[in-house]
Amino acid sequence: MKRNDLILIIVIVVLGIGALLFINFTKESGSKVGVTVKQEEIASFALDEDIVYTIEGENGAWNTFEIKDGYVNMIDASCPDKLCVSQSKIHYDHETIVCLPNQVVLEIIGGEVNPIDSIAN
Ligand SMILES: [Zn+2]
Repeated sequence: MKRNDLILIIVIVVLGIGALLFINFTKESGSKVGVTVKQEEIASFALDEDIVYTIEGENGAWNTFEIKDGYVNMIDASCPDKLCVSQSKIHYDHETIVCLPNQVVLEIIGGEVNPIDSIAN
């Protein structure tokens, strides 16, 4: 093995470790989504874990949401208006998805500050 090759390998390894550290550093820790049904928080889920979860309500009401890549999206629901499903996905601190008929609220807790908000303020 030539000396230059060895240096190149070391540089690649160091860059790789640096990139990993950078990714871990920039990742939001402690961000979660709180699930509230009838003004009572029933569960919360970390945003860094991809899941699909169905909230079971009264009288056969249900809402299914997914967490993917740190974003929360209502993907289906039993409510007649489906307004919650058509709401855009949420990611930033205090953003919510509300299903009025089923009295379900999904809210981001401890998430990233919305860059649009911080400019406005
Ligand atoms: Zn709904």
